[in-house]
Amino acid sequence: MAKSPENEHPVKALGWGATDTSGHLSPFKFSRRATGDNDVRFKVLYCGVCHSDLHMIKNEWGVTKYPIVPGHEIVGVVTEVGSKVKKVKVGDNVGVGCLVGSCRSCESCNGDMENYCPKLIQTYSFPYVDGSITYGGYSESMVADEHFVVRWPENLPLDSGAPLLCAGITTYSPLRHFGLDKPGTKVGIVGLGGLGHVAVKMAKAFGAHVTVISTSEGKRKEATEKLGADSFLVSRDPEQLKGALGSMDGIIDTVSADHPMVPLLGLLKADGKLILVGLPIKPMEVPAFPLVMGRKTLAGSAIGGLKETQEMLDFAAKHNITADVEVIPVDYVNTAMERLMKSDVRYRFVIDVGNTLKAE
Ligand SMILES: [Zn+2]
Ligand SMILES: [Zn+2]
Repeated sequence: MAKSPENEHPVKALGWGATDTSGHLSPFKFSRRATGDNDVRFKVLYCGVCHSDLHMIKNEWGVTKYPIVPGHEIVGVVTEVGSKVKKVKVGDNVGVGCLVGSCRSCESCNGDMENYCPKLIQTYSFPYVDGSITYGGYSESMVADEHFVVRWPENLPLDSGAPLLCAGITTYSPLRHFGLDKPGTKVGIVGLGGLGHVAVKMAKAFGAHVTVISTSEGKRKEATEKLGADSFLVSRDPEQLKGALGSMDGIIDTVSADHPMVPLLGLLKADGKLILVGLPIKPMEVPAFPLVMGRKTLAGSAIGGLKETQEMLDFAAKHNITADVEVIPVDYVNTAMERLMKSDVRYRFVIDVGNTLKAE
């Protein structure tokens, strides 16, 4: 019998997947590997809906392997562990984010930056070492090498905490790495969506002075009153930009739509850093002058390593940081994707997988 997603591994699994570029998700039967010596198997309880999931189910980045079961903000409870697993035990709550594998021996891996390993294995729609394709968290169960599993802090909510596994680490890591984690640091956050709203909370928890930079006035109240930002700046208003020229130590840019870099570079102090975590498809225009004059840095950052992801979760638990979420049943996921396309969510959908995805 030819290998199919349903019989390539011994353990039956049910998820919600897409089979073509329509991106329409529906119940999908597949299989997962048996629990290896270093593996952790868990029942998925919650899975966040990341903007990447939307791009991937429609193959908008050209790398999707169908059928695809998306989801890389996965929280669950351990049901089985391999004989060599030390990190967690049956009954523990755990999380899996964007990675389920890496080479474990390169410079990046040895430096706890598995996220920058040239052989990193993404959590879904990616070739695994055994030749099969990885399936993500829109599924009843998950199995992963313990190295890529994080312990879930006791007081961190499972549903609103799930998005931290992507949105949280994506913003925490550059704040730390680029030294924007010191009290009093002036930090700008561009875009107030899934990533941006978490970035504001992280930066505030570090004690930074946080300015939300948005294209319109619409989110001023939300940013300053609800999320606790110190100030708000409309990036299309020349007067407001002028008033904030040269005032920021660093900016985390979470926007994936095309937008100009020059006004943002202008907001930086000398030695200031503009860090991209969003992914606009079109190449951007960056003139040399605003970078050279002021020794400014334009950099990028992608998620984080496993050690740092654990550190981020523990930090979030300590500072009561979660995402603002709308918890949905799995059969709402296609509607959720349509709403996500229109940015009609404050700020993250999280699928209640544990209670709503059941074998028929
Ligand atoms: Zn993501
Ligand atoms: Zn590596």
